[in-house]
Amino acid sequence: MKLEIHHLNTWYGRAHILFDVHARVGHGEVVAFLGRNGAGKTTTFASIVGLVPGITGDIVFDGTTVSGRKAHEIVRLGLGYVPEDRRIFTDLTVEENLMVGRQPPREGAPTWTPDMLYTLFPNLAEMRKRPGGQMSGGEQQMLTIARTLMGNPSLVLLDEPSEGLAPKIVEQMAEALTEMKRQGLTIILSEQNLHFARLISDRAYIIEKGRIRYEGTMDELEANPQVRDAYLAV
Ligand code: ATP
Repeated sequence: MKLEIHHLNTWYGRAHILFDVHARVGHGEVVAFLGRNGAGKTTTFASIVGLVPGITGDIVFDGTTVSGRKAHEIVRLGLGYVPEDRRIFTDLTVEENLMVGRQPPREGAPTWTPDMLYTLFPNLAEMRKRPGGQMSGGEQQMLTIARTLMGNPSLVLLDEPSEGLAPKIVEQMAEALTEMKRQGLTIILSEQNLHFARLISDRAYIIEKGRIRYEGTMDELEANPQVRDAYLAV
């Protein structure tokens, strides 16, 4: 298994947010965490990457227990995290943003170069000399992913990668994620809407009020309208 989560419980102050969340993600799988606004997707991701103190349960990445470790240590093990809000350096060009993320090659993970990333995200190629601050939200989202890939992670967590993107950009994003999977990357993404997740995911977990309510393949979920209606904004 690439990532295993057992009995994850997370609190913000005294507010108990995640209740015994579990998941298992295999090498090279694309798995979606689905759920409405406020269901606990972002909190799950933040817990996995060590950004929330005081969690309980076990999170095992590539056989190494990472729960309790600091975020920078977890990232160093090859876990890439792309948060929901775009985190680019607005004064640096696209190319410079990419170089900020550069790390040595990692065994068991694809090695990315700027040229490969410009092929993956053709929009970025046209803008390589442009400051990040002068790009659209969708382009900044792509740049955030590309910069994370420059760290050569073996697993990436993408928090709502399609959120706020124009339909045409959503399509490009889906193509890019499909190619990332083809390169051997394991991908976990969060989504509120099934449509985008369905384009690229093998399996899904549905989270509601901080608990896992459903898990299955995309085909099984497709065949289960009651579950979709109960837990997702369709
Ligand atoms: P969204 O799509 O809005 O990001 P989500 O599924 O990612 O939704 P979370 O952001 O994980 O949901 O939020 C889960 C719950 O935790 C919500 O009830 C939210 O109000 C609460 N929450 C989130 N951040 C904090 C915080 N810093 N302090 C206290 N409560 C928080």
